[in-house]
Amino acid sequence: MELSKLTNFGETAQKIFKEIGIITVEQLLEYFPYRYEFLNPSSILLSDEKLVQVINVTMESEAQVSYIRRNFNSLRFKARFQNQLLKVSIFNRAFLKPNLKIGKEITLIGKYQEKTNQFIANDIKVNAIQIPKIIPVYHLMKGIKNVKIEKWMKEAMSFPISIVDRIPLAFQELYHFIPKLEALQYLHFPKSVEEIKKAKVRLIYEELFEFMFQILFLKQLETFSNGLKRKFNKKQVYDFVNSLPFSLTDDQLTAIEEGLLDLESEKRMNRLLLGDVGSGKTIVASILMYANVLSGYQSVMMVPTEILATQHYYSMLKLFDHFSLHVELLVGSMKQSEKKKVLEKIETGQVNIVIGTHALLSDNVHFFNLGLVVTDEQHRFGVNQRKNLQNKGFRSDVLYLSATPIPRTYALTIYGDMDTSMIKTKPMGRKEIITKVKKESELKEILNHVYEEMKDGHQIYVVAPLIEEGEMDELKDVNLLKEKFTLAFHDKFKIDILHGKMKTKEKDDVMSSFEKGETKLLISTTVIEVGVDVKNATMMIIFNAERFGLATLHQLRGRVGRNDLQSYCYLISNQDVERLHVLEESNDGFYISEKDFELRGQGDLFGVQQSGDMSFHLADLKRDYKILLQAKKDALSYLETKDYLNSEYYLSLIEKIDFTN
Ligand code: ADP
Ligand code: MG
Repeated sequence: MELSKLTNFGETAQKIFKEIGIITVEQLLEYFPYRYEFLNPSSILLSDEKLVQVINVTMESEAQVSYIRRNFNSLRFKARFQNQLLKVSIFNRAFLKPNLKIGKEITLIGKYQEKTNQFIANDIKVNAIQIPKIIPVYHLMKGIKNVKIEKWMKEAMSFPISIVDRIPLAFQELYHFIPKLEALQYLHFPKSVEEIKKAKVRLIYEELFEFMFQILFLKQLETFSNGLKRKFNKKQVYDFVNSLPFSLTDDQLTAIEEGLLDLESEKRMNRLLLGDVGSGKTIVASILMYANVLSGYQSVMMVPTEILATQHYYSMLKLFDHFSLHVELLVGSMKQSEKKKVLEKIETGQVNIVIGTHALLSDNVHFFNLGLVVTDEQHRFGVNQRKNLQNKGFRSDVLYLSATPIPRTYALTIYGDMDTSMIKTKPMGRKEIITKVKKESELKEILNHVYEEMKDGHQIYVVAPLIEEGEMDELKDVNLLKEKFTLAFHDKFKIDILHGKMKTKEKDDVMSSFEKGETKLLISTTVIEVGVDVKNATMMIIFNAERFGLATLHQLRGRVGRNDLQSYCYLISNQDVERLHVLEESNDGFYISEKDFELRGQGDLFGVQQSGDMSFHLADLKRDYKILLQAKKDALSYLETKDYLNSEYYLSLIEKIDFTN
């Protein structure tokens, strides 16, 4: 049923909800409150300034509105609580004025200051709450008020809607789950905490069951579907390996061997190459791309940023210099004419290896014969983006590279549909990065250290959270830092800045000057977070470190320590943030991710939030891990018994996720 069927659900509202993927009344009902307010009006008023109190009062004066500045107003009036006359004020509720007539009973939520006899409200319910009530609170979007959403939900529940229950009947019965409709009723209009709990368990299980079903179905599909069976000369591959300026680690060699087997077998490769930052995943992927080319097919590598794409492109040009391969770059910012030329070469098969960004996904990219698709930093892309690229080939093999330090157990559950290769050790001779958390007042000491490093010919990264001075003045921005560092080193060393808003040409120039070692100190935003590889860099300084999650900090730090020189990382923060010390303790991404999980839960750890892969409505992988495991078991049995063939819903789901060609 369309949303426009709801009262006062105009075009603006429709547009706003469409942005978050809600276009039907049924979908709206799965837009859940993110918290609840428990309101129980009190019959006494306490003189505790810090206590949030809920009281029912009667309006004694007209409400006065004063507009303080743009988007900021205050509403004041007098109201009577039992025999006591109070002065009430609240910010940004000018719109309530028409509902606040003298004599009306309302509910105030806020704090009472006895000295001034003021009640400073942070919320007002214009219809007084007479009995204890639980109010759902929704994430508010652009001017849509909570009460409005509540009304729509109520109306939606009264419609003859058809809600799909995605829990198969057998499991509904097994766990005595309440019916779906009842669960929705409980979540949107709970009468007790018990009701909320009952509803949540059931909806979380439902979400996770569906998620696991899809993953397991994909896995099953991969196993059965035929891939390309290639022939290539293994000796040629190993000649290439032997031509490298370093010898590969055992884990790298194993990963290559596993990948080569996938290529040779008729099973379709669906492999995740997991390895901590700096463990050397790129070279493994390059060798597999080479083998794929030898077997007569094109290889493509998709990466999340242009900086990284460009860097990979140049290093592969060098790598394959003596092996007569044609490598090309494809990124969004290229000139139309350049792009056209590259696209043509891709389509006619003149190109063997393409490195690119999201630009590769565009409809006008046609491969001559795509055999292997590599996605670097795979967690940055959504499932659909990855599949989209994969679909440009005919049964092409797929390799994902990821340094996302996901605790192993979770990784196995989430990436359950893939085979995994792990690079556990870093290349020989790498030293642990020495990491220290410092206050800004200790900057002088750090500058001395910076000077020492630069004098030894080494290079430094400085990361600032902002490009320009923002509204929060305590944050450092790149321009300000450039001034500071320039002042400190009197132009003795070349200092440069890099951020996402610069033109591509500027970015390229800055990066290449840093790669060549001309620029000694690079001040950047987190655009350098992923992949960037400059071996001579030995120090990473991160300002406002408290702003970043551990996973991001670990990735950023991974820009140094890329050869056998001792490297350092300074995390600068004026706040005492416990989690930062985890990085002092360890260089091990997996250890850090376990800690992060303990400290913060699912959070931004996966770094996949933006890709939408794992954005659940209610479930939280850490909190609900037990439910996840049970759902996995159940979904597997559902798949094995083939019961899903009787379910209209799961059949349609499969149609959507079936991406074999
Ligand atoms: P990541 O796994 O983070 O993507 P990279 O692939 O960028 O790491 O590798 C980090 C650096 O280590 C690169 O400069 C790469 O050339 C180098 N490298 C990779 N493997 C080895 C090895 N076996 N011995 C020495 N250096 C290596
Ligand atoms: Mg990498």
